[in-house]
Amino acid sequence: MTKYFFKLWILSRIFAFMKKIRCPKCDNFISFDETRVEPGVSLVFHCNHCRKDFSVRLKVKAGKENTGYPFGYIIVVENVFCEKQIIPLSLGENMFGRRSKGTVISSPIETGDMSMDRKHCIISVEQKQDKTIYTVKDFDSVTGTFVINDILRKNERRVISDSDIITIGATTLILKLPEPGLPG
Ligand SMILES: [Zn+2]
Repeated sequence: MTKYFFKLWILSRIFAFMKKIRCPKCDNFISFDETRVEPGVSLVFHCNHCRKDFSVRLKVKAGKENTGYPFGYIIVVENVFCEKQIIPLSLGENMFGRRSKGTVISSPIETGDMSMDRKHCIISVEQKQDKTIYTVKDFDSVTGTFVINDILRKNERRVISDSDIITIGATTLILKLPEPGLPG
């Protein structure tokens, strides 16, 4: 009997570390052991259901949000449609929008906010000489992209800096730059 409960305890410890991600093509869940991967790195997954390979960048828990992202990250503020999310930025273009089955983008947001397009805006990270420059551009979305309550014009690329607030649909995003001293 004790042995039986010990086995159950072991199983519960194993499952405590298992995280699930959703296949962007067929929406099936794939489990993996989160403790074995570094936050912010891209992993390639294989979906046994539809046989698609896809890569995913892992988010970290809210408590760890300040470290480990050389190009900073975006905070998706909790609202009635979604929980708080931390989405790391990469050098180059980061496409933000509502996560949706069949649409593969670099920076999907888990949300029920239907006023957010599946491809809504692009946040670009560029290195010029020794400076890193952040810009945001609307991706011809239905409801537009706002920077500190100012709507972006068609094809406008707006420079953004630390703690700037971007609004897409009914959802608020906050840019967080890497802390001084970190590379990038
Ligand atoms: Zn699949």
